Amino acid sequence: MKYALVTGGSRGIGRAICLKLAETGYPVLINFKSGKKEAESVKSEIEAKGGTAELFPFDVSDGTVADNMLDAWMEKHPDDHIAVLVNNAGIRLDNSMIFMQNEQWHSVLDITLNGFFYITRRVLKSMLIKRWGRIINVASLSGIKGLPGQTNYSAAKAALIGASKALAQEVGARNITVNVVAPGFIETDMTKDLDDQSLKKLIPAGRFGKPQEVADLVVFLASAQAAYITGEVISINGGLYT
Ligand code: NAP
Repeated sequence: MKYALVTGGSRGIGRAICLKLAETGYPVLINFKSGKKEAESVKSEIEAKGGTAELFPFDVSDGTVADNMLDAWMEKHPDDHIAVLVNNAGIRLDNSMIFMQNEQWHSVLDITLNGFFYITRRVLKSMLIKRWGRIINVASLSGIKGLPGQTNYSAAKAALIGASKALAQEVGARNITVNVVAPGFIETDMTKDLDDQSLKKLIPAGRFGKPQEVADLVVFLASAQAAYITGEVISINGGLYT
């Protein structure tokens, strides 16, 4: 069976991606770090609609744990493989550069960039053997244009874009595509502390995006129809100038 793994699948954009991938028939591995209750609710919703899901809890920034979890899963599932990988887990720890603490810098890079590396490296092996795969990395408008107060987050997301473009060229001949989606402002826990009334005025569409709208794009990139799209960064931001 071909599985889909979604990191940070318990809430927000990741949650919507899990639900939509399950609707298209993929059994889904829901990764999360600590929100077990939220992850269980995603699993129940998938199962209520006739789909299949497994909880897959671990901190993506811990390479040893990520390797162990993936190895254990692969041992338990000798006839299955992860055909779709969505690297979505991410955090924001904003601060002006002058006040930024080492921990704020490192943890954002560790989760977004190192997490992408640890998991993708391990999952890639079976995609190369099967000669098919879809890797979709969730970056941000911040990684394209940079946003003040987010040097850590912008650096992590820009690096994720660079790594995705390089990897797309490494694995293109094996029918593995690697693409990036770059959301603008999306209604999730990550943006609930922002002043949405003033931000909305900057967005031509006049509103924040919905997690389901990002999920629709991800599911398209994961589909067979998207076979000739690779190494791309697709913005989904309501027309916000980049
Ligand atoms: P969210 O609602 O805060 O959800 C974050 C998810 O990531 C949760 O499932 C969380 O699980 C998981 N996570 C965090 N740290 C983790 C770790 N170390 N290991 C494993 N899982 C971890 O965020 P979101 O808005 O949906 O964002 C999803 C992605 O979209 C992020 O990469 C974010 O940077 C990107 N993005 C978001 C927006 C936006 O406007 N919302 C815009 C551009 C890009 P736990 O609760 O268990 O920690």
